[in-house]
Amino acid sequence: MLSAIQLANAEIPAIVIEKKNYPFHRVCGEYISNETVPFLKSLNLFPEQYHPPQIRRFQLSSITGKSQTLPLDLGGFGISRYSFDNFLYEKAKKAGVEFFLKEEVEKISFDQNQFTVKTSSRELEAEIVIGAFGKRSKVDVQMKREFIQKRSPYVGVKYHINTQHPSDLIALHNFRGGYCGISNVEDGKSNLCYLTQRENIRRFKNIREMEEAVLFQNPLLKNIFMNAEFLFDKPEIINEISFETKLPVEQHILMTGDAAGMITPLCGNGMAMGIHSSKILSGLIIQHIGKIGRDRHLLEKKYAGEWKMQFRNRLWFGRQVQKLFGNEWASNLAVNMAINIRPLANAIMKGTHGQPF
Ligand SMILES: Cc1cc2nc3c(=O)[nH]c(=O)nc-3n(C[C@H](O)[C@H](O)[C@H](O)COP(=O)(O)OP(=O)(O)OC[C@H]3O[C@@H](n4cnc5c(N)ncnc54)[C@H](O)[C@@H]3O)c2cc1C
Repeated sequence: MLSAIQLANAEIPAIVIEKKNYPFHRVCGEYISNETVPFLKSLNLFPEQYHPPQIRRFQLSSITGKSQTLPLDLGGFGISRYSFDNFLYEKAKKAGVEFFLKEEVEKISFDQNQFTVKTSSRELEAEIVIGAFGKRSKVDVQMKREFIQKRSPYVGVKYHINTQHPSDLIALHNFRGGYCGISNVEDGKSNLCYLTQRENIRRFKNIREMEEAVLFQNPLLKNIFMNAEFLFDKPEIINEISFETKLPVEQHILMTGDAAGMITPLCGNGMAMGIHSSKILSGLIIQHIGKIGRDRHLLEKKYAGEWKMQFRNRLWFGRQVQKLFGNEWASNLAVNMAINIRPLANAIMKGTHGQPF
């Protein structure tokens, strides 16, 4: 959607096809790194009207509840995807973006330098297609992308809760086989979102039973769960979250956000990377459209090069850091590092984040 807004601002006709209807909840920790703020403000897309809490401290706890709090270098802000995505949707409509909602893309084909996009109810032709279809989509299956051939054990679960959580703090609590983030969004609500493994859930009758048996081993998590008011009837859940390497350009489709590569959620940087990749890509498309004798090969080469330079190391770093989570020995080590080797902890935080853009 952000790419479409930037293209529409440059008077390039843009269509967004979305299988759902705004607003809707999605599994996400809803912490957005402040590296995005200059860019969002420059496009009048910072969601000021929701008064998003500013998050400046980070608490890390091990499986046994040993914890340490550190200042965050850049920090971030908290806003629910329900509100933020809908806010962007309204902005996009005003900018002239056309939407086909509740319509699923079933097939994208490329022939004679032109795309045909087949949805559940129409067929469209386009010169350029941006793949912004997230971590896992029907389109990935249709394209036979490499990562989709492998099963992934990760499952994401999200709640909104009312609890006494400090508005400037993001906490990451380890439990066996996963980790759980908590930070505030608009209207004083808190987001509680965790990543676990399918195996953790299979061993129990339902999610609640698993939470009580596994997450409650961390006393800090038990305390949050026992004293919070849960605001959803049931949690939002997604399966098969894959952190495998992907390519930013495949079958001539220019991928942004999670469709290009997903960073492990503990980094809290997925949305910032999505926003940043849309900035890079839209800039290159605007240049490309303005040229006589458009060179698709050059556009693809430039985007793939810039994407890799900006994000490849961050994704790798995120995968390595994730190894420190979800097991007793490693999570204790991570907390001890945060307590005793501050420069190392700071270097890890820097390695998974970018600079303001
Ligand atoms: C547990 C968890 C916690 C996270 N916490 C954070 C966090 O705190 N901070 C952060 O920055 N990032 C976080 N992330 C990552 C973040 O959610 C993603 O990086 C971000 O949502 C990527 O945006 P996107 O636009 O690429 O994809 P999405 O936000 O997934 O959007 C893709 C859209 O495409 C639509 N779609 C898919 N297929 C089709 C189709 N065939 N036809 C039509 N529409 C389709 C979907 O309905 C969806 O709306 C977290 C992720 C997980 C799993």
